Amino acid sequence: MSLQCAGITRNGGRCTVSVSGAQQFCHLHDPARSEERRRAASRAGRAKPGSREVVKLKAELGELKNDVLDGKVDRNKAAVAVQVFRTIVQVIELERRVRETDELSERIAELERSSSRTGGGRWTGRTG
Ligand SMILES: [Zn+2]
Repeated sequence: MSLQCAGITRNGGRCTVSVSGAQQFCHLHDPARSEERRRAASRAGRAKPGSREVVKLKAELGELKNDVLDGKVDRNKAAVAVQVFRTIVQVIELERRVRETDELSERIAELERSSSRTGGGRWTGRTG
């Protein structure tokens, strides 16, 4: 006998995944697995700095698109919102470049420090 998952999907509807036997939820909605999923998600978020912002932006843009298409948001206001989104994207890009440049100059400084520590003498071969 197969039943329907008791979970609720992100858009508020009933999950349509069928489950069997004693299971009440599919693997996506199983409360026992939610902690595991949350940890995996936060690990993924830590792996790439700034990626969480991008994911959030994408979600917000998707919502905005739906709201505009549904007539919930005025087109002119949506156009302004899109301008704001573009600016945020530019700032994120700028932050990324600054971070990369910082990392690069840190690495160069570290190389310079380590090469000055060795004094350069070991590279000249014979002494005297
Ligand atoms: Zn489900």
